[in-house]
Amino acid sequence: LRNLVIVLGDQLAADASGFDGFDPAQDAVWMAEVGEESMHVWSTKPRTAVFLAAMRHFAADQRGAGHTVHYMELDDRENRGTFADQLAADLARLQPAGLVMTEPGEWRVREALQQTADAAGIPLDIRVDRHFFCTVAEFTEHAAGRATLRMEYFYREMRERHGVLMTDRGQPVGGRWNYDADNRKAFPKQGPGLVPPRATFPPDDITRDVLALVERELAEHPGSLDTFAWPVTRAQALEALELFIDERLPGFGDAQDAMWPGEPWLWHAHLSSSMNLKLLHPREVVVAAEAAYRAERAPLAAVEGFIRQILGWREYVRGVYWTQMPGYLQRNAFEAFEPLPDWYWTGDTPMACLKDAIDTTLENGYAHHIQRLMVTGLYAMLLGVDPREVHAWYLAVYVDAVEWAELPNTLGMSQYADGGLMGSKPYAASGKYIDRMSPYCKTCPFDPAKRTGDDACPFTTLYWDYLIRHEQPLAENRRMALQVKNLGRLDDDEITAIRDRADAIRRGDVAAPKGTR
Ligand code: FAD
Ligand code: SF4
Repeated sequence: LRNLVIVLGDQLAADASGFDGFDPAQDAVWMAEVGEESMHVWSTKPRTAVFLAAMRHFAADQRGAGHTVHYMELDDRENRGTFADQLAADLARLQPAGLVMTEPGEWRVREALQQTADAAGIPLDIRVDRHFFCTVAEFTEHAAGRATLRMEYFYREMRERHGVLMTDRGQPVGGRWNYDADNRKAFPKQGPGLVPPRATFPPDDITRDVLALVERELAEHPGSLDTFAWPVTRAQALEALELFIDERLPGFGDAQDAMWPGEPWLWHAHLSSSMNLKLLHPREVVVAAEAAYRAERAPLAAVEGFIRQILGWREYVRGVYWTQMPGYLQRNAFEAFEPLPDWYWTGDTPMACLKDAIDTTLENGYAHHIQRLMVTGLYAMLLGVDPREVHAWYLAVYVDAVEWAELPNTLGMSQYADGGLMGSKPYAASGKYIDRMSPYCKTCPFDPAKRTGDDACPFTTLYWDYLIRHEQPLAENRRMALQVKNLGRLDDDEITAIRDRADAIRRGDVAAPKGTR
């Protein structure tokens, strides 16, 4: 055996750099389903199922192309349980001259594989991942000498470098770089109207086997497989992309930040897992969206807003991850050490917005961005949860959860635990924000306008408590000055009442008040 090509669960592209120069006569593919990847964070069933189903389809395609695939299944008696131990055992058995792979998406895995290769004395050739617009080296260059890393500047550079939504004269199409201001509307009172059905892919035999395996082997893990319909092959992912461009993209912009009870899918793309598994290249997604604008099938605000998420945010968080790791995982700027409430794993809470966000997360392995950022994420930040616990939850629950994407979003964007490296201020808000962007508060036993009393919205109590607890560092931030200044309106009694109720919330003493509103 010449080269053993390692293919991880988020590297499922036949044209990945790891396959460059692949010779079926001399080389073979190595893939492994290992329990550690579902256990080191307590992964939900949908998350594990998406990875395993996609891996098995990819392995089948590789075999179909005449490649030898050494594939270890999760319930095989010989399974060693971790990448490191499984690879070590297989290296001893197969004795390849070399190991080849596309760069992994997680620091921990990269370290483990490198150490295993070193211990076996076999060279590991790690190649650049071409499934991104920006390489880690290019991002490092962009970041050099900058104290803070703002997405907006990076995004403009990317638009120019890749000629996306640019005029022939090198100007942004429409004269503006950013149409965010047009994309922050709430739904009208009567609701979002007719939301197009999401693309669903009924499980085939391979996926059904995986679903049964996950139910059997990971029976105690949270989440449900009852509605599992995610794309797990490239053909399905391409179909999902086409449907999104035709049916959802035109409505994407307006409703980007809006929430509606029982409507998890709205006008979002649901393509993150397909891109993260590498079933889709982000370039083909961006090209399809720009083509829809040029053909006048979608408005500029929607298309620019969507492209910014991929060419901007997605590439940027990856750059932040690889330029900041491994230390980033330990950042905790506001010294938050509270445990994550248990009900994050069950949805058992009377708070209507949180219940809906967690229910859809566990049922579908999905919640849209504002639910992640301004509901589950905001609550954890205001409560003062240890960022590492928040991180372990986000990495466990979503079908798109891969550490390079998840960690900067969680620790940096949603918890502000990096002290402002990514965001210029914490996304701190009271229940009034959720009330503005959704109708949840109307059916909730709490009142978003109240900060004290039994029926005060816990977000609102905790928001004021957050400002009180962190007054000094927040007052030094110009963009928080107005919010902090409002503290001056509170007298000592009210401050005490806020702090007492916040303590009670942290102890878990908050129940739905009797006689709901
Ligand atoms: P859409 O809203 O339709 O957006 C289109 C695409 O843009 C997405 O598919 C995604 O690829 C990309 N995108 C949008 N926002 C971001 C962002 N902030 N960072 C990176 N890519 C983005 N995304 C992940 O892919 N994996 C994660 O593990 C993950 N964890 C998150 C944790 C927190 C706390 C937060 C606030 C956000 C997280 N995100 C993560 C980003 C974002 O919420 C999801 O990418 C998005 O909700 C996926 O749904 P969609 O495909 O319908 O996205
Ligand atoms: Fe959420 Fe507070 Fe509104 Fe209830 S009142 S839905 S907890 S924001």
